[in-house]
Amino acid sequence: MLGLPDDIRAFLFDLDGVLTQTAKVHAAAWKDTFDAFLRAEAARTGGPFVPFDAVAEYDAYVDGRPRLDGTRTFLRSRGIDLPEGAPDDPPNSRTVQGISRAKNDTVLRMIREQGVQPYEGSVAYVHRMRAAGLPGAVVSSSANCRDVLRAAGIEDLFEVIVDGQVAKAEGLPGKPAPDTYLYAARALGVEPAHAAVFEDALAGVASGRAGGFGAVVGVNRTGQAAELRRDGATVVVEDLSELLGEGEGEKA
Ligand SMILES: [Mg+2]
Repeated sequence: MLGLPDDIRAFLFDLDGVLTQTAKVHAAAWKDTFDAFLRAEAARTGGPFVPFDAVAEYDAYVDGRPRLDGTRTFLRSRGIDLPEGAPDDPPNSRTVQGISRAKNDTVLRMIREQGVQPYEGSVAYVHRMRAAGLPGAVVSSSANCRDVLRAAGIEDLFEVIVDGQVAKAEGLPGKPAPDTYLYAARALGVEPAHAAVFEDALAGVASGRAGGFGAVVGVNRTGQAAELRRDGATVVVEDLSELLGEGEGEKA
């Protein structure tokens, strides 16, 4: 009925890019932030300015990871080693915390200005899940998860929310580690083998594979179906409506 094996009894959804159209907002905010930093670095060192690639580098190093991990992973890929700094560093300090704070300020401003649109296919899928009496959770690295769900008008559709703040309080490592998804499954009282993970990020489908989940649905928003499959998706769809038999599903 929900397009997945019959023994799937719980549904664990990533937020940005799966439920809401905010992955592209995050990508734009990261590009703003990293390009400002890289331009300043080029001026400081006399080296070339190589802008952040908001598709390839975003997918490989940033998407789906907790904010600080995203900053660290990207900088490492460019061979740049910065001090960690402190959470109250001014935005664009030459520290991991400063750059991360600049990105967060930018994404919050963009969300305030543009609002948050949910994906209609995902909302329809969640309503179908609830009509079947099955539980769902949101599992997001974002510290702003609840605000984004509220802005999209879908906060009340989920039994459990595991966001960046819960992860921090519980000491759970972020995606691509499976811990936040495993925590959500446990909170819903379901074994991982009977739960499905829905992810648009490569780090996210890797979490699903590492956690031994019964299904890992890769949601292909940016033309990376092969990479989603490579990193852990058992099924790839362009939109969740395909699982409701309203489109052509592409089975892995
Ligand atoms: Mg995502």
